[in-house]
Amino acid sequence: MFDAFGLTLLLLPLATAFGWYLHSRFKPPEEQPPPKTQYLQGVQHLVNDETDKAIDVFIKLLDVDHDTLDTHLALGSLFRRRGEVDRALRIHQNLVARANLAPKHRNRARYELAQDYLKAGVLDRAESLYRELLEQGMFQDKALAALISIYEKERDWGKALEATRKQEGALGRSQRERIAQYMCELAEEAIWKHEPKTAAQWLKKALAENRDCVRASLLQARLLQDEGDHRGAIKALLRVPKQDAQFVGEIIAPLKKAFQALDDQAGLTEKLGSLASSSPLAAVQVANARQLHATRGNGDAYLADFLAEAPSWTAFLALLELTDAAASPTLAAPLDSLQTALHHTLNTAPLYRCEHCGFAGRGMHWQCPSCLHWESVLPVDDVTKPKAG
Ligand SMILES: [Zn+2]
Repeated sequence: MFDAFGLTLLLLPLATAFGWYLHSRFKPPEEQPPPKTQYLQGVQHLVNDETDKAIDVFIKLLDVDHDTLDTHLALGSLFRRRGEVDRALRIHQNLVARANLAPKHRNRARYELAQDYLKAGVLDRAESLYRELLEQGMFQDKALAALISIYEKERDWGKALEATRKQEGALGRSQRERIAQYMCELAEEAIWKHEPKTAAQWLKKALAENRDCVRASLLQARLLQDEGDHRGAIKALLRVPKQDAQFVGEIIAPLKKAFQALDDQAGLTEKLGSLASSSPLAAVQVANARQLHATRGNGDAYLADFLAEAPSWTAFLALLELTDAAASPTLAAPLDSLQTALHHTLNTAPLYRCEHCGFAGRGMHWQCPSCLHWESVLPVDDVTKPKAG
């Protein structure tokens, strides 16, 4: 619904000022009503919810100078904020087309016009306006941020990287985490195109940019594993606990795959034991318990000890699976029901959550699909962890 009353309040001072301004400077043609009357007609259109007629009147009478520019820009951005982008576009296009507008003011109108195009999804026009503003050294920070968001939407990681380098210069602040992510995106593109050498080069650059880039280590391990270099893959994976301890759970599956390819069960047992001694994550503890159970048969005792210290549904489910129910026949049926119920709960619980906006899901995203922040989606160790005590 259009809020005619709100707009009327906004436009009344504009109408009065312009009416007076035009009346005092120009003698109106005899066949037309005086400007003040026409402005009042414009306001009348607004009151009657005839927004387009009102805009026609205002644009026709528009004689923009530095005193009135702010009001027109405010009117345009008000329309954009309300989602009426076509109306915002008409106002800003009209301002930009004014021959008498000073370059500084024209650039302000251009910036608003670029915002309209961005909101309307006309990305190529928005991009060219932002680039023009940048070339003139105007709105550096905002234009760069907008250009980066456009390149991210278009998945043009090379341009996003280039613009972020400029942004680093403009802000005087490192953007190494995001730059490394763009390099990982370029590496993934190369993997998809079956160009492993190019991918490896991008990953090397990503790690040089940000040595704590978990994604680069995981991708590097994947590349090395595909090439049959399982020792190299293990080395890359074992960087992750030092890079970010929250992601240790992500290395379990590829680590198992690499040790299995090497037929080195003892090596896997040793590495999982070492990870479990330094990581409290239930995923790591469960992986270690399963390995202990497979090799020494005492994984259930290990998990029981862990559960006594850190209650966790994931670990409890694993304990149920490792427990020999046949040893206590009267408990077999209820334990089986409990196991089924826990399976259902844990298999539908989110595995990842964005710490910025709360978005949650079962797939990993390096850029949150909801708030678009990078590296804000983190693994959830045990979403249904019961409260201790
Ligand atoms: Zn988010």
